[in-house]
Amino acid sequence: MIYFIGAGPGAKDLITVRGMRLLQQAKLVIYAGSLVNPELLEYCATDCRVLNSASMTLEQVIAAFREADPQAVTVRLHTGDPSIYGAIREQMDALDALGLAYEVVPGVSSMNAAAAVLHAEYTLPGVSQTVIVSRRAGRTPMPAGESIPELAAHGASMALFLSAGMLGELCAELIRGGYAPETPAALVYKATWPDERVIRGTLATLPELAADVGRTALVLVGGFLQGPYDRSKLYDPSFSHMFREAEK
Ligand code: SAH
Repeated sequence: MIYFIGAGPGAKDLITVRGMRLLQQAKLVIYAGSLVNPELLEYCATDCRVLNSASMTLEQVIAAFREADPQAVTVRLHTGDPSIYGAIREQMDALDALGLAYEVVPGVSSMNAAAAVLHAEYTLPGVSQTVIVSRRAGRTPMPAGESIPELAAHGASMALFLSAGMLGELCAELIRGGYAPETPAALVYKATWPDERVIRGTLATLPELAADVGRTALVLVGGFLQGPYDRSKLYDPSFSHMFREAEK
């Protein structure tokens, strides 16, 4: 059986228990070497074969799946959660065409890790109840209606992947779309890795503050990073719900 596993954002103990157990049983692991922390491979048995997909094509990955013992555990290890910019759909479609069975084990996305590092909550009452997960166009173009200025027009909380290398353009487009230049913004580099870095600023200041930081980083934008918000209704003493009567 083939398992697509979310490795989590970096720290070795931020993989799920299920993912760790499967790594311990695996006979073959194909990991995304450009982003997965190699420390996670320490969970593998000594006789486990390990391939780094950074230098492989989709066809080579599929060929490795085909050659693997179908009775043994084969792991495809992707960074964060595989459903976000994981390029797993094309692998799953190829496996479907070959009649090879697989399962997906979710992981902790870097967008969750970045919020944790910042002690932030994306969905604050009175600020935003929406998180936009997106990126700036790179080699992959953005579909119509999903340009950064169009997404920024919502004023929602934003988590931007794959865009830290174009920070100046990114922040300019966010402002062009409607965010005030003073809108809080943060860049989290390699969240939960030993060399993690956190830079807080505004849309106006972040490009300069983070000019020397590498690309494996998320850019978070919105009032949720700082400033006023409303208390939650769920824990408000004057509010009744299914499990609690309001205090008089
Ligand atoms: N599936 C992954 C994202 C893969 S796309 C997830 O759920 O996190 C790769 C992009 O993810 C990087 O360009 C960067 O924007 C972000 N990223 C991945 N790991 C990160 C980390 N530890 N800290 C900050 N950003 C990270």
